[in-house]
Amino acid sequence: MAFDKITDGASYIESLRKRGLTVYLFGEKVKEPVDHPMIRPSINAIAKTYDLAIENPDLASVISPFTGERVSRFLHVCTSAEDLVLQNKMQRKLGQLTGTCFQRCVGMDAFNALYSVTFEMDEALGTDYHKKLKVFLTQMHHDNLVLGGAMTDVKGDRNLAPHEQKDPDLFLHITKKTSEGVYVSGAKAHQTGCINSHYLMVMPTMRLGEKDKKYAIVGSLPVTAKGITYVYGRQSCDTRSMEEGNIDVGNATYGGQEAMVLFDNVFISNDNIYMNGEYEFAAMLVERFTTFHRRSYVCKSGVGDVLIGAAAAISEMNGVPNASHIKDKLVQMSHLNETVYATGIASSHQGYPTKAGNYQCDDMLANVCKHHVTKMPYEIAQIAQDLAGGFVSTLPSEKDLNHPEIGKLLHKYLRGSSQFSTEERIRILRLIENMTMGRNAVGYLTESIHGAGSPQAQRIQIGRMMQLEYKKRLAKILAGIEVDDSKAIVNELGDYFERVFKTT
Ligand code: SF4
Ligand code: FE
Repeated sequence: MAFDKITDGASYIESLRKRGLTVYLFGEKVKEPVDHPMIRPSINAIAKTYDLAIENPDLASVISPFTGERVSRFLHVCTSAEDLVLQNKMQRKLGQLTGTCFQRCVGMDAFNALYSVTFEMDEALGTDYHKKLKVFLTQMHHDNLVLGGAMTDVKGDRNLAPHEQKDPDLFLHITKKTSEGVYVSGAKAHQTGCINSHYLMVMPTMRLGEKDKKYAIVGSLPVTAKGITYVYGRQSCDTRSMEEGNIDVGNATYGGQEAMVLFDNVFISNDNIYMNGEYEFAAMLVERFTTFHRRSYVCKSGVGDVLIGAAAAISEMNGVPNASHIKDKLVQMSHLNETVYATGIASSHQGYPTKAGNYQCDDMLANVCKHHVTKMPYEIAQIAQDLAGGFVSTLPSEKDLNHPEIGKLLHKYLRGSSQFSTEERIRILRLIENMTMGRNAVGYLTESIHGAGSPQAQRIQIGRMMQLEYKKRLAKILAGIEVDDSKAIVNELGDYFERVFKTT
């Protein structure tokens, strides 16, 4: 694929036209995804990442170390803790501006994880994956493109390893090797923004054993590659964006996107392969990627800001902005929302250098951040619905509001405080519906449970890192059971606290 350099949201949208992707939606092939009313809001959300880079270049772009030109921060490999922190700030801002998932973090986190993993693979095995990855990154920077990260296999029987599955295609795997590259088959599920990307990076979804060798494949390929079919994922209330008008949809401009990607003997060239059978490095890649991605979920604090704003606005429109219980609920929403942000950004602040020289964020705090996200947005959404009142779930449609006979009556009876029009009140109620029950509740609530790994995956990681032996020693020393030998306890820090307390 040849591209012109993408400079803004409009040129990004143009870059997606005429690609001839095979996309199924409602049992039919989509002619042009860019013009499909249900797909377009998800494209607009990515376009906003480009426009933000113009509006606030320091926040959403960087000078590429590969090309010397300004590119999206979503393509940047972080070389300091400050870089990691700025990713989070950009994510919160974009959550605020779109109220939804802007789909670019998976690719960003994949680059950042692969950068150190390929370096360490080459060091251990004498391969040349790191160099190839840098060449690919340079191409991406050159045209300022979007990379989708494709990790989650469909997995079949969860109790069986990839090679034990009855059907080998339940995990993406190599079907054929030639002197030019490999062919892969399988399916990746829940693929955020895949149709809106220019390239995909396929990666294994879990730790692999020796017998899973053919599943240990990492490679980049154009979304247009022969043999790929996309099946668009439905979201609650998604067809509202296909209706006339722009009130009932709640957020007419922005939405998220998830699709299934089916691979039928799809070619990946040798130049674009960054793991090819080295199963022993799959776990390292999955762990580093999920660490980046779990703290990327601070995006939800930006979305939470919108919902808190909507809850405060509807309270005013209902005429009760100063009731003490309402203020207290808004404080509760803010406390939860800032807790999500705090743990994510702390994970970035506590980032540390890898052997490759790029920075990896803190794994414990990244897992705590993502684990908060599996719960706290639900409580925030519950309070928003509480403050909205019953109309959030029983409002008449926009067509009835505009009806020549009953429209006037609806405007009269649906009015709240006289300071606001009925339409303003309805628009805020529809936005709350969109974010807590409708299309963008998918990203804010349910995707928040499962994205970057379901809750139990974080609990396992937190359990692995909690260093109970060390903590028991601390308690026993203070309780007078063991000797206070401060030199020994310093030496017993273990991996996690060694990094936390490192001062240089
Ligand atoms: Fe980024 Fe959040 Fe969407 Fe994941 S859910 S891609 S972290 S905006
Ligand atoms: Fe996600």
